[in-house]
Amino acid sequence: MSKYDVAIIGSGPGGYVAAIRCAQLGMKTAIIEKYSTLGGTCLNVGCIPSKALLDSSHHYEDAVKHFEEHGIDIPGEIKVNLKQMIARKQAVVDQTTGGIDFLMKKNKIDVYVGVGSFKDATHITITGEETTEIEAKNTIIATGSKPSTLPFIKLDKERVITSTEALKLKEIPKHLIVIGGGVIGLELGQVYKRLGAEVSVIEYMDRILPTMDSGISKELNKVLKKQKFKINISHKVTSVERNGDEVVVKAENKKGEEVSFTGDYVLVSVGRHAYTDGLNLEAAGVKLTERGKVEVNEHLQTSASNIYAIGDVIKGAMLAHKSEEEGTFVAETLAGQKPHIDYNLIPGVVYTWPEVASVGKTEEQLKESGVDYKVGQFPMRALGRSRASMDLDGFVKILADKSTDEILGVHMVGARAADMIAEAVVAMEYRASAEDVSRMSHAHPTFTEAMKEAALAANDRALHI
Ligand code: FAD
Ligand code: NAD
Repeated sequence: MSKYDVAIIGSGPGGYVAAIRCAQLGMKTAIIEKYSTLGGTCLNVGCIPSKALLDSSHHYEDAVKHFEEHGIDIPGEIKVNLKQMIARKQAVVDQTTGGIDFLMKKNKIDVYVGVGSFKDATHITITGEETTEIEAKNTIIATGSKPSTLPFIKLDKERVITSTEALKLKEIPKHLIVIGGGVIGLELGQVYKRLGAEVSVIEYMDRILPTMDSGISKELNKVLKKQKFKINISHKVTSVERNGDEVVVKAENKKGEEVSFTGDYVLVSVGRHAYTDGLNLEAAGVKLTERGKVEVNEHLQTSASNIYAIGDVIKGAMLAHKSEEEGTFVAETLAGQKPHIDYNLIPGVVYTWPEVASVGKTEEQLKESGVDYKVGQFPMRALGRSRASMDLDGFVKILADKSTDEILGVHMVGARAADMIAEAVVAMEYRASAEDVSRMSHAHPTFTEAMKEAALAANDRALHI
């Protein structure tokens, strides 16, 4: 039987990064993945394919709506070739997952394909084409998450679908009904909106992206309405029925009236839940929380002392980069180091256009904890760079402590916000004040000048508004 210092179950961004870091630190490492391609949700059916489709659909929308104004004439009709768009997406996925195979080989990590299941706390049975057993001094559970649904919805995966199916549709929906105005609903809703579908979003809470800063929700809501999204907030979905090629979603609005939506596809995007099926956690003495997540302490150690858990399967934001940080954290803990993760500084990004990005505390959180803060806000439309590219929507908002000027939160909607948020993370990691950021030179003309201007605005010194 092969023996390892560490075995990792699950090869998503948490698992494969943990494996690489363990190998770098000299541990004999195995990774177990039930699917034949590595990379988990993120690389196969999550981050990467959704961004590939967002990019393709963005190009199409630009060609149809903006090329003429830029002085680019395309003779003839511009058409979507959905089959090619999906094929390109798959090529991007294949190249990316292939890259993980390369990294496993490079770092001499043994890869097992099959379902990993605990026999006891130090032995794992792997059931694939054949059954293997390995011994591991330590194990890291990185089995991720699966889409959640509502109890009365029957996901047929043809017309009543999750994000996984939405990434490989064979036709553009005429009317896509999206249940859940969170990250997946808005990103994939925007893909099909750009390609010509009518898109209706049904959100239970009183705003889209309900966990983000409310100013951000409001701004994105405004922009999406301009893009002709139909957004229905404060709607409780009560039933979903499919009749042939038609789907009917019924919901109760704020006034308690029944509203009905008829479309040809329904995307159910109401969150994801931790995935622990088949792990046989009881045999290893690993406990779950009431919400079905693997329970961990501050070292990400489970109730079995030699077993750790990371990523979507434990508490916290379900984000690829959060999983990666936790993978590194556990590897370094096992090597006797004292790593640290500041969860407050894990950014959240929504890859709509304009993009949405956020780090640190929201205004709602600051109010709730009674912190005295000031706001510096700067509209993207006041930038030369925005006018040059015709990306005028959005703003950067900096929240800073009223007396010390320390930056406590940064929230933005705008072109390339996903990349711009990195500056805010660095600033906050070094506990910068708004004045610190405002005194740093930002290249002109760039979108990042909105960061500098918002920092200036926090001290009533904005230059261009
Ligand atoms: P996962 O990536 O879910 O990987 C877990 C792996 O474990 C899977 O491969 C699974 O097959 C395997 N596994 C499970 N059980 C077993 C077992 N018993 N034996 C063997 N293998 C097993 N996050 C971002 O940060 N940015 C984004 O842009 C983004 N976009 C997304 C878009 C979509 C459509 C979706 C669905 C998610 C997106 N996410 C994004 C979230 C991101 O994908 C997850 O947070 C991330 O993949 C979690 O990583 P993980 O390693 O914890 O788990
Ligand atoms: P989410 O939590 O972002 O959004 C779910 C939305 O559904 C929420 O707004 C919620 O209020 C709403 N909702 C819940 N129950 C409802 C009901 N009965 N009727 C109507 N609305 C309801 O979840 P998601 O969009 O499914 O994404 C799942 C996870 O994947 C998220 O945790 C997210 O972090 C991750 N993800 C991240 C990215 C990214 O980082 N860009 C992209 C996609 C997914």
